[in-house]
Amino acid sequence: MASGGRTDLDGAAVAPLTICVIGAGGFIGSHLCEKLMAETQHTVLAVDVYCDKIRHLVDPPPPHLAGRISFHRLNIKNDSRLEGLIKMADLTINLAAICTPADYNTRPLDTIYSNFIDALPVVKYCSENSKRLIHFSTCEVYGKTIGSFLPKDHPLRKEPEFYVLTEDESPCIFGPIVKQRWSYACAKQLIERLVFAEGAENGLEFTIVRPFNWIGPRMDFIPGVDGPSEGVPRVLACFSNNLLRREPLKLVDGGESQRTFVYIKDAIEAVLLMIENPARANGHIFNVGNPDNEVTVRELAEMMTEVYAKVSGEPPLEEPVVDVSAKEFYGEGYDDSDKRIPDMTLINKQLGWNPKTPLKDLLETTLTYQHKTYKEAVKTQMCLATAT
Ligand code: NAD
Ligand code: UDP
Repeated sequence: MASGGRTDLDGAAVAPLTICVIGAGGFIGSHLCEKLMAETQHTVLAVDVYCDKIRHLVDPPPPHLAGRISFHRLNIKNDSRLEGLIKMADLTINLAAICTPADYNTRPLDTIYSNFIDALPVVKYCSENSKRLIHFSTCEVYGKTIGSFLPKDHPLRKEPEFYVLTEDESPCIFGPIVKQRWSYACAKQLIERLVFAEGAENGLEFTIVRPFNWIGPRMDFIPGVDGPSEGVPRVLACFSNNLLRREPLKLVDGGESQRTFVYIKDAIEAVLLMIENPARANGHIFNVGNPDNEVTVRELAEMMTEVYAKVSGEPPLEEPVVDVSAKEFYGEGYDDSDKRIPDMTLINKQLGWNPKTPLKDLLETTLTYQHKTYKEAVKTQMCLATAT
């Protein structure tokens, strides 16, 4: 039977799959589950320790999704049910990880265990049971660009081969061990190498995804509202939190680092193509990002300030940004990736995927969501904090 009349890129009908999504309750997982439920007939075994972001799909599933999605609250560190779920599925997608930079230098052991040790059984069960695996890695495995080691005004810095990041060619360049920021990148690199070796030596069918700053609604948390007051999420949520509280956005070390941001809904299209085109996706590592959406962190702050003023109707602050040192903001051992431009040749050739949404548009949608979802809760929380 075809999956909701869907066809793959070669025109063949796509059979309905059972997909074990590990980390289904997170930012990417929640968007993936929504997409699979809305547009396909695939069945999802959703695994996570939390389900808040997919509660609308699983607690309980609405009648039209009955039998198509089930939530399995388990910690993959230590739960014997994991192998049974992987065996039941045709495909496993592993998203589970500690993946917020504030944790890499402050909780390096948890970061390494989460991104390497805890992922090992997933790879092993897929390999031993001849099940396909889509494993989520990160663009951070590239580390720093080659160009970052040249003097600031060196002309070679402008040459693409000194900064464009290509899956099967670019080296992985990390800082020294004392810069514990790289604990995450290093753990992700080793699990990539393990997955790749399982493919080469034992025939594991795998695809590795390297997301380049996917952003959108439901990313991370707003400190003190739906996450710890002292927690430091990724930049989108940090800046959203500042805007909601009408406080200056904090620029770490001057906000000079450059990032490319891709809209979560564009990126999820790429994942769906990987799911439904195994012959084109297996054995590959794919960059998934939007090279046209490059900004410095300072430019991102300025753009978010402008867009937030538009969607909220609140005037921007007179001093919308403030500089802060990395040590003050993240603590000892922080370091940064200087620039992240994904080479899109491979994903374009294999899957015909291209991102669509310009940064301004995706910020408008996302900040509208942030304002609607959080403004009242932030106000209440701020009142309570001043009253005590
Ligand atoms: P997220 O933190 O929102 O989601 C991760 C989910 O995994 C969470 O819901 C968490 O509860 C779950 N999880 C973690 N450890 C678990 C365990 N032991 N057992 C069960 N569940 C567990 O993060 P995300 O942004 O959705 O990222 C998903 C994946 O993509 C991660 O592997 C991350 O490294 C990778 N990634 C994402 C981005 C991005 O731009 N969002 C960038 C680079 C890499
Ligand atoms: N950053 C910042 N202010 C913040 C949060 C983050 O200047 O409040 C910077 C951070 O130092 C990095 C960039 O924003 O240069 C992106 O950070 P993020 O946490 O999103 O993750 P990364 O892209 O580094 O993986």
